[in-house]
Amino acid sequence: MSSAYKIIEHEYDVVVVGAGGAGLRATFGMAEKGLKTACLTKVFPTRSHTVAAQGGISAALGNMGEDDWRFHMYDTVKGSDWLGDQDAIEYMCREAIPAIIELEHYGVPFSRTPEGKIYQRAFGGMSTHYGKEQARRTCAAADKTGHAILHTLYQQALKHNAEFFVEYIALDLIMQDGECRGVLAWCLDDGSLHLFKAQMTVLATGGYGRSYFSCTSAHTVTGDGNAMVLRAGLPLQDMEFVQFHPTGIYGSGCLITEGVRGEGGYLTNSEGERFMERYAPSARDLASRDIVSRAMTIEINEGRGVGKLKDHIYLHLEHLDPAIIYERLPGIAETARIFSGVDVTKAPIPVLPTVHYNMGGIPTNYKSEVVTLDDGNPDKVVLGLMAIGEAACVSVHGANRLGSNSLLDLVVFGRSAAIRCSELIKSGSIHKPLAVDACHKALERFDKIRHANGSRNTADIRLDMQKVMQSKAAVFRTQTTLDEGIQMMTDIHKSFADVKVTDRSLIWNTDLVETLELDNLLSQSLVTISAAGNRKESRGGHAREDYTGRDDVNWLKHTLTWLTDDHVKIDYRPVHLYTLTDEVDAIPPKERVY
Ligand SMILES: Cc1cc2nc3c(=O)[nH]c(=O)nc-3n(C[C@H](O)[C@H](O)[C@H](O)COP(=O)(O)OP(=O)(O)OC[C@H]3O[C@@H](n4cnc5c(N)ncnc54)[C@H](O)[C@@H]3O)c2cc1C
Repeated sequence: MSSAYKIIEHEYDVVVVGAGGAGLRATFGMAEKGLKTACLTKVFPTRSHTVAAQGGISAALGNMGEDDWRFHMYDTVKGSDWLGDQDAIEYMCREAIPAIIELEHYGVPFSRTPEGKIYQRAFGGMSTHYGKEQARRTCAAADKTGHAILHTLYQQALKHNAEFFVEYIALDLIMQDGECRGVLAWCLDDGSLHLFKAQMTVLATGGYGRSYFSCTSAHTVTGDGNAMVLRAGLPLQDMEFVQFHPTGIYGSGCLITEGVRGEGGYLTNSEGERFMERYAPSARDLASRDIVSRAMTIEINEGRGVGKLKDHIYLHLEHLDPAIIYERLPGIAETARIFSGVDVTKAPIPVLPTVHYNMGGIPTNYKSEVVTLDDGNPDKVVLGLMAIGEAACVSVHGANRLGSNSLLDLVVFGRSAAIRCSELIKSGSIHKPLAVDACHKALERFDKIRHANGSRNTADIRLDMQKVMQSKAAVFRTQTTLDEGIQMMTDIHKSFADVKVTDRSLIWNTDLVETLELDNLLSQSLVTISAAGNRKESRGGHAREDYTGRDDVNWLKHTLTWLTDDHVKIDYRPVHLYTLTDEVDAIPPKERVY
């Protein structure tokens, strides 16, 4: 059993789990500050999902028109549908400007204006003068911004002395006396197990888009860190808020960036009508993602979808100058050709709202420290544990994330984690002793799944889960669909006890990897749909047909969910409606949103 496994021990000041944008920024930031740092990642760093980010990264640089970080903050608070924590949003929007300049100096090859400044495009929900005009705030490297940033960050990480453990799968957090003491991981290459002891463990494991049938994220986006937090008896926050991106390619779910609409692309229905003019007369196709996704769904539900089945919408670029398309959106032209057989200079792209981003995740403060609700204290810091990037819920995105604010969140909070660790940790300090059975629970789970010998295979259970999440926790939700979904997800979650793993080896056992990931996805799906059934209002990405209005009297609060076996416990944390400094007083009172 579990005692049969030999465990190799390592000691570090900091262990970062994940090598996407957030994990890499944190890793070299820690190393730069002289902390002995390890970074574990289940895929090679530059294969992390961040590499797929297209449209860009926001910052009020004002390179292509007037801008101010306060305008950016206003848009982010409003875009979050007032569920974002305003101290954290202020921190992110102020830090955005030096963060982009820093990226430029690290070597990110941003697109340029004729005078040589960083090129900035229009994105949904981004305005100047507190909602008055469309801002051009999204810094872009053509339509491959994530690729450019991730490769640059990896090069920086190699320059500093961070140690990488590539194709190591983190299995579980090692918790003792309510503190995190490190992480247990499995090396795919030689099948060995490793205990990484650390003064601080930083989860940068990304979102959990793969809970859904149609999503824009990579197959590896299974929210492993979130699930580890649930298994450690800690809560996740605001899991009911799932972002549907309006323009996933019909059929494959591949993303067509919002940057396409930023460059002048627009949507039409079966009558050839630019219907966004009816739903959002001034922002039109650049209204925030929740609004555009809902409008598209209504058009389809009312019979004005396009195609044989009238079940999707057209996105047009063919009116744009082909030279602009090839210069600014080359990846999109290629993706549309491969996944829908369309030449974007001649025909529209068939698109459909597709799951894209998880606003919910591990609750943290703006210093990236994980927090929990403890004995009435809603901001109790969990010692030894941080979370950053899409895995975290800081919460800067609240109920709805604005496009290009995620790449920003990665670098700003990756950096803030490094700053906080340098304040908290003295390099080389002695590790507290660990109990002899510290890894027992984690090993038992691993061993049990490795030897699972039931009657259902992993892919079947995964498909059941993805179909239920897609149809019952969708763009529009009602109590009836959610209650049915909760019952079905509870049954599917239970059915995991009957899973079968056919390969029992420890070396590159992808059957076991996928089954461990499925276990992680199942727990997040169950808390997501349960939190959605619990929140009786519409806000941001959570649109209820039976409670259509936002209800600030009863629901201006973060949902916390704990999971024990199949039981979801729900409680709340207040939203931080206060700012970090009083510099926002520069905003005229009548324009303020907070
Ligand atoms: C197609 C697409 C386009 C996007 N475009 C934009 C955009 O233009 N602008 C924007 O702001 N946002 C965009 N987003 C959102 C944004 O890219 C993501 O939210 C962000 O990249 C997530 O970064 P991350 O560092 O948190 O995680 P990821 O990049 O997903 O990386 C997760 C890391 O964790 C590691 N990991 C996970 N589990 C384990 C485990 N158990 N053990 C060890 N390692 C593990 C993985 O190996 C990986 O290194 C886009 C998202 C998608 C899917």
